[in-house]
Amino acid sequence: MRRIYLDHNATTPVHPEVIEAMLPYLREGFGNPSSIHAFGQAAKKGLEEAREEVARLIGAQPEEIVFTGSGTEASNLAIKGVVYGRRGGGGHVITSSIEHPAVLNVCRQIEREGCHVTYLPVDRVGLIRPDDIRRAMTGETILITLMHANNEVGTIQPIEEAARIARDQGVLFHTDAVQSAGKIPVDVGSLGADLLSFSAHKVYGPKGVGALFVRRGTPLRALIHGGHQEQDRRAGTENVAGIVGFGRAASLASRMVTGKQEELRSLRDYFWVKIRQEIDDIHLNGDLARALPNTLNVAFEYVDGESLLINLDLQGVAASAGSACTSGALEPSHVLVAMGVPSWTARGTLRFSLGRETTKEEIDETVPILTDTVKRLRAMSPLYLDAKRGGR
Ligand code: PLP
Repeated sequence: MRRIYLDHNATTPVHPEVIEAMLPYLREGFGNPSSIHAFGQAAKKGLEEAREEVARLIGAQPEEIVFTGSGTEASNLAIKGVVYGRRGGGGHVITSSIEHPAVLNVCRQIEREGCHVTYLPVDRVGLIRPDDIRRAMTGETILITLMHANNEVGTIQPIEEAARIARDQGVLFHTDAVQSAGKIPVDVGSLGADLLSFSAHKVYGPKGVGALFVRRGTPLRALIHGGHQEQDRRAGTENVAGIVGFGRAASLASRMVTGKQEELRSLRDYFWVKIRQEIDDIHLNGDLARALPNTLNVAFEYVDGESLLINLDLQGVAASAGSACTSGALEPSHVLVAMGVPSWTARGTLRFSLGRETTKEEIDETVPILTDTVKRLRAMSPLYLDAKRGGR
């Protein structure tokens, strides 16, 4: 069976050039970059070249990049690093209600440790309102952390404005750019962020490698103590091969980001037009004009998203659901709930996320599979049959 992968926001395939770049560092280039002999220095060279490429992707200086074990770790370092660095503890942090768990659960943890956190609401398409940030600021606010692009609906936040509000008040600003870096142009200078998290496996690099941009002069407490790696900000021998892979993935992304963006956007929009023509009672979650070019989040009324997902997978189409199974119960996504999507509709939601290698042929193959599966599931749904009988 041919498999069609439409889940690139979950992860991406590792680019063949990335694998090629990594292999020497798993073989003869195995040295420890902290060693002074030739083996160590060769590894160090690979590490520092990768740092330059990763920094270039976001318009940063190499010394402003701290390599971590994931995007999640980068956000932990950013948020806890600021909060723990504050003398006397406490403090106030502003975030949004639609963050990835990599930020949301860190905020819940610092709340348990005595920090006060404000979770900003979002509008119908998942946008925060800058005025809400202004209103939430207090004399105690030490950090604002807002995601650049949402992983579920793709909505891109007004980060420049949010960062300006923070700067005007002398408050640090962090953004989780795990979904945006490499997909749309990301430049730390124009965004105005002090801290920015991103991750290799979302941009055709390996899993288990992330990075935190730390603007020069930003106070940050380390979370992992040990050796002096990463300018004392993250101890532990670096994952050299993974970082080299991140470097190559970043340089490929830097070259492609502008051109691919438009190609992906038109393929994604074509997909939406096609399924809207074929399937009734569906809604778009978010706003395509303000979203990542590869992301499409669709609610199929009278359909259970998990059943749809599983049935699509059986036919070779991989997507992602708008709900998650938590302790046996299907919980609608916190993002959709925050956007005011009714929980029943949220449960019938799927996310399709396209990638660089996605073709029009794959989309043309997916549309009839999706259409037939939705029809088949609805034919078994008493709710749907009742609604249609009642003329709804
Ligand atoms: N932040 C966002 C917005 C994400 O989409 C993800 C991954 O899905 C993460 C953070 C976590 O990144 P990582 O898998 O590298 O820990």
